[in-house]
Amino acid sequence: MRECHHCPLAETRTNLVFGAGKANADLMFVGEAPGRVEDERGLPFVGRAGQLLDQLLEEVGLARKDVFITNVLCCRPPGNRDPEPDEIEACKPYLYRKVELIQPKIVCTLGNFATKLLTRSSRGIMSVRGKPQVHELGGRWVRVYPLCHPAAALRTPATLEALREDVQGLPALLEEPAPQPPGMPAAASPAEPVAASQLDLFG
Ligand code: URA
Repeated sequence: MRECHHCPLAETRTNLVFGAGKANADLMFVGEAPGRVEDERGLPFVGRAGQLLDQLLEEVGLARKDVFITNVLCCRPPGNRDPEPDEIEACKPYLYRKVELIQPKIVCTLGNFATKLLTRSSRGIMSVRGKPQVHELGGRWVRVYPLCHPAAALRTPATLEALREDVQGLPALLEEPAPQPPGMPAAASPAEPVAASQLDLFG
C-alpha cells in the first residue's frame, strides 16, 4: 500500500496509515480516516480520540495490543474534511483484504462512514449503534458492531455515554460463537444436544 496512488490523497499525505495491532485479532475497529497526529506518526487513533478509545477498552479489560485498528481511508483528507466517495471506493478493497487476512469475529465500525460502508446501508449511526449485525465481509460471516466515533464522544457527553455503554457490551459479544449466515439455524450447542424426539425423527 505504501506505493498506492489510487486517489488524490496520496499527494498530500505525510504517511500512509495502514492500521496497527494484533494480526489475528478477534476484534477489529474501523474508524473514518487518519487525522493530523495519525498522518504524522503513520499509526491509527494515536491522537485524543485514540486515547479515549484506549481508555474505554481498558475499562472492559481490553488493550490495544489485543485488537486491530484501521480506518476506511488510509490517508488523511486535508484539514480533516469528510472522505469523498471516490476516495472510499479507492481504499475499500484494501479494507476488505485486511478483514480477509485478520479474520476477526467482530468488526466495530466507529461512526457513520465506517458503519454505512460495512453495513451497506444509509442508516445513521445513532439508529444502529450498539446493535450487532451479521454481514459477509472478506469472504466470511462477521458480526459488525456499530459504535459512535470517539471524536464525536469527545465533543458531546451524551455520545460519550452511548459509546461507553456499547463498548461495555464487547466482552459478552466476544464470547458468542461465530455467526451463522442469515437464514441458517444455529448449530446445536454440545452442552445441550437436541434430543432425537425433538428432531421428530422417530415420532
Ligand atoms: N479518527 C479516525 O477516524 N481515525 C483515526 O485514526 C484517528 C481519528
